[in-house]
Amino acid sequence: MHRKISKLLVVGAHGDDETLGAGGTIARLADEGVTISLCILTNDDGSRSANGAGVVNRTAAIELAAKTLGIERVRIHEFGDNRLDTVSHLELNRTVENEVRDFEPDTILTTSMCDLSTDHALVSRAARVAGRPGKGSVQEVRTFEIRSATDVGEASGLPVTFRPNCWQRLEETHIERKVEALRAYGKELEPWPHPRSERGVRALAEYRGSQISTELAEAFEIVRVVY
Ligand SMILES: [Zn+2]
Repeated sequence: MHRKISKLLVVGAHGDDETLGAGGTIARLADEGVTISLCILTNDDGSRSANGAGVVNRTAAIELAAKTLGIERVRIHEFGDNRLDTVSHLELNRTVENEVRDFEPDTILTTSMCDLSTDHALVSRAARVAGRPGKGSVQEVRTFEIRSATDVGEASGLPVTFRPNCWQRLEETHIERKVEALRAYGKELEPWPHPRSERGVRALAEYRGSQISTELAEAFEIVRVVY
């Protein structure tokens, strides 16, 4: 069986989640004519400002990364980084539900419940609620993996583990655009062997690719799909 994606909504907690988790896939689907909307729930560097580094608004970086990947529509909300646990479930759920109602995606990609980041887990839950079966347009919900969030979550003994059951084949050009989009976030790209280095991004794509005997891929866990 095969589902063709027409309208994709990517839901992330932080600007860069979309690129780290699914940048190659987004670039590929954009090339194939899929209409893509990005919803990011937070728009500051709260954890960094707590360290005295000053609050940095990420709007420009998010928009530049989105343009690089071929995302047509960007919605950035103003919840606080690392503070989504202070927002009511009702408010968070309604925010993502409104995005779904406005854009009417058939597919949602979002963060994983398995991530050590509480923001990621809460956003994943809200996206699942917004994409639940019923009157809405959503036929499929998938989660993506983010280095030093998903893999650290597993290692920290969280009760859930990211178990990929869906792979997207990628070409070299898609990984190049993923790395270019990450550069929009400035300091987010670290030197090798950091997991969020250019080589680290490539290493994961090669590993996920080799799992399906192809050069490059991104892996996802399908939460639900309706045929
Ligand atoms: Zn994040």
